[in-house]
Amino acid sequence: MKRIITVLGARPQFIKAAALSRVLRSSPFSDVIEEVIVHTGQHYDENMSDVFFREMDIPQPDFRLEIGGTSHGRMTGQMLIELEDLYLQVKPDAVLVYGDTNTTLAGALAASKLNIPIAHVEAGLRSFWKRMPEEQNRVLTDHLSTWLFCPTDASIQNLKAEGIQEGIHRVGDVMYDINLFYQARLQEEAQRGLHRPTNEALAFQEPFVLMTVHRAENTDASERLINILKGAGRLPLQIIWPVHPRTAQVIRNMGLQISPNIHLIPPLGYLDMLSLEMRAELILTDSGGVQKEAYFLQKPCITLRDQTEWIETVEDGWNKLGGTLPESIWAAYQAFKQAPPAKQKKHYGEGDAARKIAEVLMQDLVYIER
Ligand code: UDP
Repeated sequence: MKRIITVLGARPQFIKAAALSRVLRSSPFSDVIEEVIVHTGQHYDENMSDVFFREMDIPQPDFRLEIGGTSHGRMTGQMLIELEDLYLQVKPDAVLVYGDTNTTLAGALAASKLNIPIAHVEAGLRSFWKRMPEEQNRVLTDHLSTWLFCPTDASIQNLKAEGIQEGIHRVGDVMYDINLFYQARLQEEAQRGLHRPTNEALAFQEPFVLMTVHRAENTDASERLINILKGAGRLPLQIIWPVHPRTAQVIRNMGLQISPNIHLIPPLGYLDMLSLEMRAELILTDSGGVQKEAYFLQKPCITLRDQTEWIETVEDGWNKLGGTLPESIWAAYQAFKQAPPAKQKKHYGEGDAARKIAEVLMQDLVYIER
C-alpha cells in the first residue's frame, strides 16, 4: 500500500476533498492508496468546517492540529512544526494539498523539507498580484510540487511561463465534479418534495442577488468594504449575504451601516449555498470558488476584485470585474442587464477531475520508495 497524507484546513479545501477523497477511497484506487487526512484547524466552526464533513460524506480527519485564529506567519509556522512531526510519525509516500491557503503552503513546505513528494490540486492559478496572501501561497507551493494538477489551460501556461515543465497534468476542476454531483442530489431532493435551503428563515423569494465577501484585501481595507456595501446597497434587488466570520468581525468592530436590501445570514453548508446559487439572479463575490460556481450554473457574476485567476469566466462573458467602487459595481450590473451573456460552458473539464488525479497518483506512486 502507498500512503498519502491529505492536508486540509479551510472551507474550500473541504469541498475539494469531498470530490477527491471519495474517489481515492473507492476501487481500484483504495487497493493501492491509503489516505490519511489531517485537519489543521484553520477553519474550525460548525458552519465553516463540521457541516461540510457531515453533509458531503468527507471522511473524518485522522489528525486534528487545531491551529487557527492567529496571524498568517504564526499560523503557517506552527503548522510547519506540527506537520513535520506528523509526517515523521505517519511516513507518507506523498502529501496532497489543495488550493492556496496557509494550510496549503505549510503542508507543502513541511513535506519538501523531508523530501516527500507533493501533489498540488488546483495548481498554476495566478492573480499576478504578489501582495495577495493566496498568490504567495500558491506560487511557492507550485514550485515545490512533484504533481501539478491544473484545472485550466491558462493555469498550465502560467506554470510554463515560470519555468515549470514537468509534472503538469491537465485534469479539470474538482469543484466542477462536486458541483455536478450535488446539483443532481438537489434535483433528486426536489423531486421527492424536499426543499432547500433547509432553514426556513433562508427561504428567500426570487429574484435575489447572492453575495459573499471574505478576501483579506476587501475585509482588511475598511474603505473597500464600505464601498462594496454602498455598491450592493444601490442595486435594485434583495441581496442575501452569508457572512464569513472574518467579515462579520470587521462589520461588528467598525459598526458598519448595512442598507435594508442586504440580508446578512450566517455561513451556509455547501448544499444550501448551491441551492441559493442556483436560484440567484446575479452573484456578487470575491471568492474564487463562487466565481466558478456562477459559471458552472451560468449565472452572471460580478467579482468584487480588480483581478481574477479564473479569466475564462470573464472571457466567456459570465463574470465582470466590478472592483469595489459603487460606480464600477453599478456599471457591471448595467452591462449584464443590457447584454446578457450567451450560454457556453467549457474550460473546467468533464466532471472527472478527481478520477484523473487518482489515476495519475496510483500509476506514479508505484515507483516511489518510502
Ligand atoms: N460556500 C459555502 N457556504 C458559504 C459560502 C461559500 O458552502 O456560506 C462555498 C462556496 O459555494 C464554494 C466555497 O465555499 O464552494 C468557496 O470557498 P471560499 O469562498 O471560502 O474560498 P475561495 O474559493 O475564495 O478560496
